[in-house]
Amino acid sequence: MLIEIKMEKQRYERPVIRRLNVGVMNKFGTRTEYEPVTHIDDNAVASLIKEHGSPLFVISEKTIRTTFQDALRAFNTRYPKVQFAWSYKTNYIAGVCNVFHQMGSWAEVVSGFEYLKALKSNVPGNKIIFNGPDKTVEELTLAIDNDSLIHIDHLDELYTLTELAIAKAKKPRVAIRVNMDTGIYPMWDRFGFNYENGQAWDAINKIVLADRLQLVGLHAHIGTFMLSPSAYGVAAGKLSELAIRVRDKFGRKIEYLDLGGGFASKNTLKGSFLSGPDTSPTFDDFAETIVTAIVNAGFLEDELPLLILETGRALVDEAGYLLGSVISNKRLSDGRRATIMDFGVNILFTAFWYDHKISPAQDFSHHTEDTVMYGPLCMNIDVVRENATLPPMKRGEHVVVHSVGAYNMTQWMQFIALRPAVVMIDMKGKPHLVRKRETLANIDEQEVLPEYLRAFKL
Ligand SMILES: *Cc1c(COP(=O)(O)O)cnc(C)c1O
Repeated sequence: MLIEIKMEKQRYERPVIRRLNVGVMNKFGTRTEYEPVTHIDDNAVASLIKEHGSPLFVISEKTIRTTFQDALRAFNTRYPKVQFAWSYKTNYIAGVCNVFHQMGSWAEVVSGFEYLKALKSNVPGNKIIFNGPDKTVEELTLAIDNDSLIHIDHLDELYTLTELAIAKAKKPRVAIRVNMDTGIYPMWDRFGFNYENGQAWDAINKIVLADRLQLVGLHAHIGTFMLSPSAYGVAAGKLSELAIRVRDKFGRKIEYLDLGGGFASKNTLKGSFLSGPDTSPTFDDFAETIVTAIVNAGFLEDELPLLILETGRALVDEAGYLLGSVISNKRLSDGRRATIMDFGVNILFTAFWYDHKISPAQDFSHHTEDTVMYGPLCMNIDVVRENATLPPMKRGEHVVVHSVGAYNMTQWMQFIALRPAVVMIDMKGKPHLVRKRETLANIDEQEVLPEYLRAFKL
């Protein structure tokens, strides 16, 4: 009888003597990140890459919807009037924005480009919140014509807007952005008008007394990746106090308080002792302190303002994955294993701030080792992970980087390489291409080569 034993040949790894490196430990022991992730919402990683190339961004529509519903529930169960506005700069792929719009989110934009993008996606003008310090006269004119909510950042903008209002004989709907001490430092006092030194109250008085603009709201966006719900309690309290002062002095109602965004996602900040899922507050934590501050501020029942939230990162980070492939393995001069991937900080900008969780996308042996993960750029700062505990992976094998849905698809750069495709997996598990891979033609299209530079001889 012939017994056939089929076994894949073991991979040979050159033996090395290595110095022990102290990895980042948490109190539960060393980080273990070696469960394979072979599928995303029922789609095999290998087949997604085969179809759309590597690297590849993948977005789970299901995760967006469940995360959004969780956030909405946290606020709706505590407060009668809540409105979310999707922060375009966090991820402005049209497919992603429209999932939020389908769930009832307005648009929150911080530039003329984003404003036009929202209009083009058929967001009604009166449901676009226009933030940011740089709004041109043309952009402000467009926003007035579309009855958008213009959040004033500085006095120069206030005066420009007033001039436009006079010229057009219209009364645009505005809010002012207020910055304040919430106990979080450094303070984001470069945006808007300061609460403590009286600038905010001064701007409010100027707007109401000049009577050319309708002051409908008060806005604060106190920071990003905020781990402290109590800071939002302070912000909500100070905005409420201003609104009540407006009522008492002018007999006018402030229709909404906009508490901005900034809630932390479940990512792990570099150098933090515990992992993100253990440290990030829940939507309930944020909702509880914000709502408590507003309902206890002294509004009468029929004058409770609408509560607007512009949260971005916390709603989309976990829904995004980056799939990539191993280019090469090598040993550094100190003996550490290094793995070079086909994606780097060019498309994974958030690798500068986070220790992204990275999972192999296929089975592997359970030997793991501290690994430096590099991107493919010819730049020393192109480090995806400084120290990850990973099994050896062969050239061509795949990994899944978790929680990349926020800011990477807007801050990515076209440096050395073209940007990859983005696929969204729908509620039934069907993948849809939502952004095509860039091509050389896309880049060439923008370039203009002067006639006299066309020809050369080498
Ligand atoms: C960036 C930004 C947001 C969203 O911030 P996240 O940290 O992604 O939640 C909301 N509002 C304003 C004004 C912003 O600039």
